[in-house]
Parts: sequence; C-alpha cells; structure tokens
Amino acid sequence: MTDAQAPAQTGTNPLAPAPVGVRTAADVVTPELIAQLTRDVVGSGRTANHTPFTGDVLADLPESTPEDVAVAFERARAAQGAWARTPLRQRAAVLLRFHDLVLERQAEVLDLIQLETGKARLHAHEEVQAVAVAARHYGRRAAAYLAPKRHTGAIPALTKVTELRHPRGVVGQIAPWNYPLELSVGDALPAFVAGNAVVMKPDTETCLTALWARDLLVEAGLPAGVFQVVIGDGPVVGPEVVRHADYVSFTGSTRTGREIAQGAAARLVGVSLELGGKNAMLVLEDADVDKAAAGAVRACFSSAGQLCISVERLYVHEKIADAFLERFVARTKALRLGTCLAYGADMGSLVGPRQLETVTRHVEEAVAKGAKVLAGGVARPDVGPYFFEPTVLDGVEAPMAVCTEETFGPVVSVYRFASEEEAIERANATPYGLNSSVWTRDARRGREVAARLRTGTVNINEGYAPAYGSVQSPMGGMKDSGLGRRHGSEGILKYTEAQTIAHQRLLPMAPSLGMDDEKYAAFMSRSLKLMKMFRFR
Ligand code: NAD
Repeated sequence: MTDAQAPAQTGTNPLAPAPVGVRTAADVVTPELIAQLTRDVVGSGRTANHTPFTGDVLADLPESTPEDVAVAFERARAAQGAWARTPLRQRAAVLLRFHDLVLERQAEVLDLIQLETGKARLHAHEEVQAVAVAARHYGRRAAAYLAPKRHTGAIPALTKVTELRHPRGVVGQIAPWNYPLELSVGDALPAFVAGNAVVMKPDTETCLTALWARDLLVEAGLPAGVFQVVIGDGPVVGPEVVRHADYVSFTGSTRTGREIAQGAAARLVGVSLELGGKNAMLVLEDADVDKAAAGAVRACFSSAGQLCISVERLYVHEKIADAFLERFVARTKALRLGTCLAYGADMGSLVGPRQLETVTRHVEEAVAKGAKVLAGGVARPDVGPYFFEPTVLDGVEAPMAVCTEETFGPVVSVYRFASEEEAIERANATPYGLNSSVWTRDARRGREVAARLRTGTVNINEGYAPAYGSVQSPMGGMKDSGLGRRHGSEGILKYTEAQTIAHQRLLPMAPSLGMDDEKYAAFMSRSLKLMKMFRFR
C-alpha cells in the first residue's frame, strides 16, 4: 500500500517528490486504529473498503445485517432519553469541544479522508472547515434556536401560548462518500444538540472517516450510545435505517432520494433530502475574466468535481468568451494531479470504478457527437487507477448526456450567451436546482441575476464556498435537488417536533358571563376587528 505515498504527476506539470516523512496508507490505517474505530459497530458480517489511490483494500470492516440495524436503533433509543434530559448548555458544550478537537487533530482525519476518497489534501481540508463552522454555530446558537417561544394567543391576555421544541428521538442518517466528514458528522451535529440520538449509515468506502469523527465526538463528551454507526450496502442497510428512524436525513443521489422519500412517506416520518445538481456558472459581460477563470477552476475541479455544488455548466458572455477561455483552459491544464498524503496536489482521484465509468462515458459520447476537448479528456491510470484529467468541453449540445445529466466528475461544458436573459433561462432549464454562481463587477446586477436563478444557493464572484460556509443561512436544493435544508434554523428545527401549549386563563373560549351564543359570536367578531386594528399578528 506504499503506492499511496508515491508522488504522481500530470504530463505537463510534475509534482515535487513527496516530503520526507509523509505517511503511507499502512502507517495511517493500522489494525489498532480499525479495531478502535469499529469497536461499537453492530455488525455480524464482514466487508472491506478501498483506497482510490491504488484500488487496494484499506480496511477489513464489520458489516451490519438488518437485525444488527435493529439492535443499533435499540441501543440508540435506550441512550436518547438521558441525553435529551442533559441540559442544553452541556449538549452545546460537546459541540464546542468537538470544534477544538477537530482543528487540533485535523492531520489524522485529513489522511483518512484522502485515503478513502482520493481527494487532494486542500479539498479534504474544506471538510474540516465546514465541520468546525457547523460545530461552532450550533454550539453557540442552539440555545436560541431551541428556546421555548412565546406567541400571541387566540385571545390575547387570556390565552398564553408557548411553543416547545422536542427532539424527534432517533434520527436515521444516510450519507454519501464524497464529503465523508462533513456530510456524516457535520450534518448530525444539530441533531445531537437538539437532543436526538443518531444511527448513521455512511458509505462503506468512506466509513473510517465517519467512525473517526464519532470517536472524537465521544471524546468531546457525547455519550457513546447516542451515536450508532451501521455499515453495509446501501440498498440492503439503507432501507432498514429508514424503517426504524423517527426522522430521516439523507444526502446522496436524486434516484436514491426518491426511494428514501417513499420509505419515509409510508411510515409518515419526516425526511430531508440533499440531492444531486447540474450547477451553472454565469460569467457576465462585465466580469473580471482573470478572477472568473481562477474561480471556475475551483468551482469545477474541487474534489475532482465530485461535489454536489460544483459547476458542470459554464455560461460565458460571447464578448468575453475567448479571453475567459484562454485563461481558464491554461489554468486547467496546469493543475497537478497527485496521490500524496500532503498538501501540493491540485486535484485528486475519482472515488472508484463507477465514477470513472460515468465520467469516461460522458466525455467519449460528447466527443463522438461532435464536442471538442479544450483540456483533459482522458483517464490517467499512470497516476492512479481512477484518475481522470480535469476536462473542458466546447460544443456540447442537448442530446449529449454530459449536457443534462450530473457527471459528478472533473468535466465542465462551456456555452456562450448573448444576453443575461438568455443565460438565466438556459441556466434554469434543468430539473436540478442546487447551486449556481454569477460573476460580475456590478454587485447589484449580480444580486438581481442571482434572485432569478432557481437554485437553493447562489454565489456571486465565487463558485460554492461562501454560501456553503455561511452556516447561519439555509443550504439545500430546489426542484429535483432536494427537500428541506441544512444549516441555519431549518437545519436544526427539522430535527425537532414542535409542540404548542396554550393555557386558557380567566374566561373559556365559549359563551360565558351570561352571554348567549349570539352575543358571544358578536363579542368575538368585535374582538377580531379590534385585534386587526391594533395590529396583532
Ligand atoms: P447514492 O445515492 O448512491 O448513495 C448515498 C448513500 O445512500 C450511500 O450511503 C449509499 O450506500 C446509500 N444508498 C444507496 N442506495 C440506497 C437505497 N436503495 N436505500 C437507502 N440507501 C441507499 O449517492 P452517492 O453516489 O454516494 O453520492 C453522490 C450523489 O450525492 C450525487 O448525486 C451528489 O450530487 C449527491 N450529493 C448531494 C449533496 C447535497 O448536499 N445536495 C451532497 C453530496 C452529494
């Protein structure tokens, strides 16, 4: 497994040799670490995961049967009550300690993320940042989000109303492989601070990262029973999680999301779905082309394009298209591929054979139908079994799969537009609605265009990071890109049940004080008019 250490390079832009002392997969994923991380997993079977850097087995792992999933839910349920009764301030303190621990011990998890996903270290660090931000935000703001709220009663002064927020119970969480730290534990943090237990099914290929984060949360003070992890095939273990959960939090493909939603609907439990995208970037006529070209590289090729909010459609105003493309293509060709467990590579690997097959198929089909490759376009088995060069396509048209389907790889198609109206219309002409990006020097124009794009997040003069990192504000998809939101108040209140307690005082809500029905009806009608007049809400 020492290959993971070997420096790799693109044809045009070699990477420097790995720094002395850089760890290998065998140094990182030791039998002791695997034993420690998997000790609480309820799993009577065996499975394994692999590192995309070499395709070799990374860890031998327990596998959960449907019966094991039921046991994990029993354990979580047994632990949840005491956790929900733990004062909120103590629950929030766990998140704040976790924040510090993640930043202190980031080197450990960066190695695991890289080994499990094959991504470059800088892209792995985005996950550390996202988790730290979520831990800080919900650690500090949970008390305000969850505090009992007073509301105007049916008859002000006579009806005293309080809204309470109770935990749902045991949340079932199903997570993908592409951001194994952020989309596993990062999304679970608000569920925990709201008093829930969580049974999580990470993707098997990236479960060590999720298990490492669980260990760290337990070290930060989370009772171990409150956080159960089950491991196994999605179509086998996933539906079992949905079958037992009081609420389902899912991140993954739109196809699987529809199945999850049906399972949750049959049981009448709530569900949030963070799904796929076919995200557009609009480079308006007045954009700074240098900055836009650099931003497009980040937006298209972070995590080798295996990012739900990354850009796969690039709309450029025809007047600046040549200048933009010259810069964008040059920057793309200069990207350095690498497999090293250290900073330095600009892009890593695809996660495995399925992603490589999709990316290759999309590119080859487009080329066969007349698209032109401006950069990349080929796999790089010399670097690693699933590497594919960052690719820019021109001349892509509607019948080509790459034009409409999510590729989820380092492939972007460039389209020219003549007017903003046209750009907005074409950007919106997709069943997806996750993220988009607008580049302009005119802030007001940028905001106006942004508001007309049908996506849950829009970034002006950046690709995806500002909206995702602004954790006080909701993040999620419109249309086929999802249901519900993470972050902000929605990202925590979805893990709660609202309860309204109305205390009626002095007079009943019925005829009284000698009023007959008619007088009571007249009294209530007058009261309603007065309430509107006095601007009651
Ligand atoms: P996927 O749907 O194949 O798998 C996601 C998770 O669901 C995995 O844990 C998998 O084991 C499990 N699963 C698979 N089939 C299942 C089934 N029938 N029932 C229950 N669970 C099942 O998706 P993926 O390939 O792992 O992830 C890539 C997709 O996720 C892309 O479409 C990407 O856009 C999307 N994604 C969305 C967001 C977001 O925030 N909107 C974030 C990351 C990824």
